[in-house]
Parts: sequence; structure tokens; C-alpha cells
Amino acid sequence: MDFTSFSNIINGKQCGALKSYHGINPATEEPLWDVPCAAEADLDRAVEAAQGAFHAWSSTTFEDRCDMVKRYAEAFLTYEKEFIELLMKETGKPIDVADREIHSSYEGLIETSERFPWAGVECKSQILMSSLAKFTLPVETLKDDKKTASVRYVPLGIVGAICPWNLGAFAKIAPALVTGNCIIVKPSPYTPYTTLKAVEIGQSIFPPGVLQALGGNEKLGPWMVSHPGIQKISFTGSIPTGKTILEKCAKTMKRVTLELGGNDACIVCGDVDIEKTAPAVVLAAFKNSGQICVASKRIYVHQSIYRPFLEAMASYAQSLKVGDPFNSDTDIGPIQNAMQFTKVKSFLDDCKGQGYRFVAGGGRTGCTKGYFIQPTIIDDPPEDSKIVTEEPFGPIIPVQPWCEDEEVINRSNNTRTGLGACIWSKDIDHADRLARKLEVGNIYINSPLRPDWRVFFSGHKESGIGGERGVQGLLAYCNAQAVHIYG
Ligand code: NAD
Repeated sequence: MDFTSFSNIINGKQCGALKSYHGINPATEEPLWDVPCAAEADLDRAVEAAQGAFHAWSSTTFEDRCDMVKRYAEAFLTYEKEFIELLMKETGKPIDVADREIHSSYEGLIETSERFPWAGVECKSQILMSSLAKFTLPVETLKDDKKTASVRYVPLGIVGAICPWNLGAFAKIAPALVTGNCIIVKPSPYTPYTTLKAVEIGQSIFPPGVLQALGGNEKLGPWMVSHPGIQKISFTGSIPTGKTILEKCAKTMKRVTLELGGNDACIVCGDVDIEKTAPAVVLAAFKNSGQICVASKRIYVHQSIYRPFLEAMASYAQSLKVGDPFNSDTDIGPIQNAMQFTKVKSFLDDCKGQGYRFVAGGGRTGCTKGYFIQPTIIDDPPEDSKIVTEEPFGPIIPVQPWCEDEEVINRSNNTRTGLGACIWSKDIDHADRLARKLEVGNIYINSPLRPDWRVFFSGHKESGIGGERGVQGLLAYCNAQAVHIYG
């Protein structure tokens, strides 16, 4: 397997294109390898191939499909080192972050294809999963003296997966394939390499047309969204793009899953162990340079410990090493691309211009090349400031004091987004009382957000529609079909 040449994958074959584009290594600003830029005709060919493959693929048993996805996971992991290095080059992720992501991708394929072992999960999932296993067995059945009515789940058809630059495609590939759909994956033009190579590896396992990938320019996503041969768009990315996609999907009545941005609150209660919790909160905010959808983006610290906690956060943030992702002691790599770098700098400039107090960071590092920004903490900016009200998606966070439960809940909920939140407290009952009032899809108590493949992940409010992972994540790739039998 050659990790220096990259192709689109259509109908089981590696394909070039008339035009090409390339990513940029964000740590060096050097261009990476050329990648074919798909034309509209390439998308048509991919859709046609998927339609040709769908009938046979959706007729295979759930067990066979799971088996193939499991083999795919093993084939993917064979190239573990190459994928980690590729991911580091195209995204700027330091080795620990890239390593985790590649292993998490493998785990996602395995968890999904082993039909979710559900270790410790107490719910109806096991019954549902065993019903899903055959895809012909009814999941819900009603019997009366006249008829038997049951609901079963069938695949949707062709799925278009549109991905952002900070995250891979496996959360979409695994559930789409095990439920009997064919999938066409579109990576972000900023980070096409890992996805194209991962799909290429799948060609020795899946029938042609089942798993395909197309890289392209800004026209490709809209073509996929409007294409009448695609039945679902699974999109992860920004809220404005998500809204456009939702609107466009109405024309062909496509199913849509939208995993969008957020402005996650992190509530630190007065009873925490400051020395232990402050570094954990800093990492929850700055891991992968803050370019994680569920990174903590607004930190509320109880006023009884505000100053010492802020100082502990500042001191830990200043100790983080920013630089070359390939240095083993690097904690924080660069911002992934020039567009995002400019955006994050606009938050820094705004904070400086407004005269807010910086307790850590505040500028670029000593590196002469690369999109590096020091982890930055702003001490108690106003509630209506840009840094509190908008998602920077970079290593800059506001920290503010809070006093009463009701007040911190109102402030946390005072946003149109609702992706996630963290609460840190020794008193779990108190943390849970706070959690119940938060308008978000994912709450973590005494932990940074780390989505679990077995548990549904979704956003409330403008952070999305539908979700991924867990049983509900699988059902998002199915149509329900009710059958009423009389006599
Ligand atoms: P983006 O919306 O700019 O782009 C995402 C993808 O959509 C890219 O592949 C892009 O080429 C494509 N695209 C752009 N315009 C399109 C259009 N009109 N029609 C169809 N496709 C189009 O987002 P981004 O900058 O790549 O990603 C960062 C954002 O993603 C952040 O806001 C982050 O919070 C969010 N995100 C959310 C999650 C989640 O699970 N909720 C996960 C990761 C990232």
C-alpha cells in the first residue's frame, strides 16, 4: 500500500480526475500530495455503482456484513503506523491525539460490527439488536384478534457522508454498512488523505460500489446534497453549512443527520480538588488545539475557588508544549488550516482590543512556520463578549465566576447551540441536578467529553438533528417498515 499517492474510489477502482488539489501540512505550511478533484460525472458514476451494488449488498445477512466490517477494521489496523503518520501530517495532530483517533476508528468498526457487545448497558438494546441482526425479524409486534402488526427496519439505500477537517468518517461508514446501505464518503478538502486511503483499503473486502470515496472542491458537497440517487446525507461540520444542507435536502426528501458545532459550557463546582481538576479542565479545552466539537469552550468556576482555580489553570496551560506534532514531547499542535488560523486570531485580536485580561497565552509561538497559537485563557470577559458567545474552535477560552445554581444554568443555556457540557464536582447528586437542567445532547460529569461508540451522540438546539453511535445511531440508517397481517 502506497501512502504517498491518493485516488478517488469509484466502483472498486482507483480513479484520477482532470483537475487536482492538495492539502497543506499545517505545521510546516508545505503542500502535501496531489489528490484528484471529482467532477459531477464522477459523482454520477459513483451513485450508479452504489445503486448497482445495493440490492445484493442489502440482501446479505447482517452477520456477513458485520463480518466484512470486522475484517475491514483488521485490514485498516495493519497500517496503524502509516495512518497515524498520515493523520499527523495532514491535520497537525500530535502523536497522542493521532494515535487515539486511529485506534478509536478501529474500535468504532469493531464495536459496530460485533453488534455492540453492550457490556454493562442495561436497556432494551439487546432485544433490539438481536432483532436487527436479521433485519427481517420484527422489532415491535402487536397482536389482536384480527391481525398481527409489526415494525421492522430496512436500509435506506445510498448514503452521502460529508466530513469536516477535524474528524474521520468511521462513525458514518460502520453503521451505514452494517445496516445494509452503500456509502459514498466525501472528506474535507483540507484533510482528504486518511479517508481516501482508508476507503482504498476497504476495496479488497467489500463488493465494488459498496464503499466509495470522492474528494473534490467546494462544488462536490452541494452536488451530493442535490443528487436524486442519494437517500441520506450524514453531515458533520459547521452550523451554517448544516442549515444549508437541511434546506437543500428537502427538495429530494433525503434523510439527514446533522452533527454540528457547539459552545460547550464547563461548570466547576466549589468542592473540587483544584490541583487535580484544573489540569483536566485545561486539557478538555485545549486538546487538539481546541479543534474538537465537544471541547469545553466556556469555563464557569464557582466564585469560592475562582482565583486559585484560575491560577492553577493558567500555570498548567503555560506548561503545555506547543510545536511540531512529530516531537514526542509536544502537547499542542497547530491549527489545521489558514482559514481557521485567521478565525482564531480574530478572537485573540478582539480580546486584546477590548482590553480583557490574559492569564495564559495570547499570541503565536516562537515557530516561524506553521499555524501555531499558544493556549490562551481570558479572565472573566463580559457575558456578551465574542469569546463567550461564539465558538472559536481553537485554543482560546474564557473563564468566569459563578455563584448560584440557577444562574450558572441560565448562563450555560444562554446559547442557540446545545452540543455538550462538563460538570466537575465531588457531589454527584448535585452535579446530576445541574445536568438535568442543561439543554445539551451530551453531559459528562467529572470527565472531559469522550464519546463512546455504544452510546448515542447528538446535539440539541442548533447543534444538530439526529445523531450517531449506539442503537439509535444504527436506526438512523434505516427506514421503519410496518407490516400488518390479517387472517
Ligand atoms: P464546514 O461546514 O465548513 O465543512 C464540513 C464539510 O462540508 C466539508 O467536507 C465541506 O467541504 C462540506 N461543505 C461545505 N459547504 C457545503 C455545502 N454547501 N453543501 C455540502 N457540503 C458542504 O465545517 P468544518 O470547518 O470542516 O468543520 C468544523 C465545524 O464542524 C465546527 O463547527 C465543529 O464544531 C463542527 N464539528 C461537529 C462535530 C459533531 O459531531 N457535532 C464533530 C466535528 C466537527
